[in-house]
Amino acid sequence: MEPIQLFVPTFRIEESLEEIRVCLEKGWTGLGFKTIEFEKAWLDFTGLENAHFVDSATAGLHLAVKLLKLHGGWADGDEVITTPLTFVSSNHAILYENLKPVFADVDEYLCLDPASVEALITPHTRAVLYVGLGGNPGQLDRIVEICKKHHLKLILDAAHMTGTRLHGRHVGWQADVSVFSFQAVKNLPTADSGMICFSDKALDAEVRKWTWLGINKDTYSRTVSSEGTYKWYYDVEFVGHKYHGNSIMAALGLVSIKYVESDNEYRRKIAGWYDELFAKEPRIGLVKMAPDSVPSRHLYQVLVDERDRAMSYLNEHKIYPGVHYRDNTVYRMYEYADGTCPNARSASDRIISLPLHLRLTEQDVQRVANTLIEFVQLSK
Ligand SMILES: *Cc1c(COP(=O)(O)O)cnc(C)c1O
Repeated sequence: MEPIQLFVPTFRIEESLEEIRVCLEKGWTGLGFKTIEFEKAWLDFTGLENAHFVDSATAGLHLAVKLLKLHGGWADGDEVITTPLTFVSSNHAILYENLKPVFADVDEYLCLDPASVEALITPHTRAVLYVGLGGNPGQLDRIVEICKKHHLKLILDAAHMTGTRLHGRHVGWQADVSVFSFQAVKNLPTADSGMICFSDKALDAEVRKWTWLGINKDTYSRTVSSEGTYKWYYDVEFVGHKYHGNSIMAALGLVSIKYVESDNEYRRKIAGWYDELFAKEPRIGLVKMAPDSVPSRHLYQVLVDERDRAMSYLNEHKIYPGVHYRDNTVYRMYEYADGTCPNARSASDRIISLPLHLRLTEQDVQRVANTLIEFVQLSK
């Protein structure tokens, strides 16, 4: 039996090599050139207004929090309401800027529960960080309303949401800033990169300086003559980071973005096969998708009792699923909030991400589903 892995990225190899070859022949692999082309392709694809290509979503999330804090006049220790059911980089981004992650609970979509969020708002709350888990928008609409009502900023960790549509429109525009990931196992694969999309044009212009050590290129583009002299007369406005993306990653992204719509279509097909196979087994809990949405289907998640034993059983049958995620409050960094989110904790103990990638056949999906069904029936 062939092993079935959780994620296997699909690269269009010949096309990707051609795009990379262009960079190598030109002798330009860094910031600019393909990164600009990719930013444009991204704006066309999503219909968003601004986008800056960064070297990871983690870097993007950090700068999202940093710039909102800076311009909002937030103080150290101010609060950002966030989810415990995420990759730690969402919550680290809050800590990088000396703010406090306040954990709200999740709902049946495994995304932030609006009621739990609203109950945690204090005079020190500045923002909500929302994760569209697996590409599911959950109750994003209600979170947007709550943020408006309480004058909070909304940061969308859209690491799983490339291609997700809500009410017919690509997600991202609802938030003050949205951050997408193009890490290799995400649904628009490069090797490592991401996109930070501010709704405010001024912040988009500013973040371009922050991702390049605070260097203000405008000063030298003003000083520069047509022969390109005086390039060294740039200004450095602040202690920025080295977070910008490069042309090799953008070259990969430019190829992946051409296919992501049809790739997501196939992901949804796989999810549909799983849904059908599990329909008659009530001990395998399914995760609802938001109404009127077309989710990217970065993940296919189920909930089962005795998750760890189920994982071992699947492993014995050469099936290698994953867990997204453990409740972050089990980690030492976040243990001050341990146990404050019972739904997230219960999901954290029961959740499995089943194999979902473009090389899976319908037979593979049947093998995974039948093995899991076999497990729950044997252990009843
Ligand atoms: C992958 C991921 C990130 C981080 O993305 P990188 O591009 O690897 O830095 C952030 N949040 C979530 C929910 C993720 O899954």
